[in-house]
Amino acid sequence: MSSSPTPTGGRCAAAHPEDPSPCAGPRDAVTVYDRTGTGVPGCEHHGARLFASLDGGCAVQRSVLLAGARVALAAAGLCPFPWRTGTPGTGPVPSLSCYAANRVTAGDGTD
Ligand SMILES: [Zn+2]
Repeated sequence: MSSSPTPTGGRCAAAHPEDPSPCAGPRDAVTVYDRTGTGVPGCEHHGARLFASLDGGCAVQRSVLLAGARVALAAAGLCPFPWRTGTPGTGPVPSLSCYAANRVTAGDGTD
């Protein structure tokens, strides 16, 4: 009996059912934990998107060195549930344009 969730549908366990994007890299690159301590293994792409959607938690490297740090950094540039808003960030390390757009929306951009 395995304690790790089994990837379903050819994608990692961190991929949200509503998120149509494919995995990027190993599907056990990182484990994303919510604030209750429940962890889900995933690729860096879906790990970042999941982490961006959580209120608290952490990302810890699993099979890929420094994946946890990269996921946390990438998540900082994503909106929660980015697959619902069509925001950029489809690669393993998303751009920061969502963050930049939010700053402009908030009136923080003074260009
Ligand atoms: Zn994935």
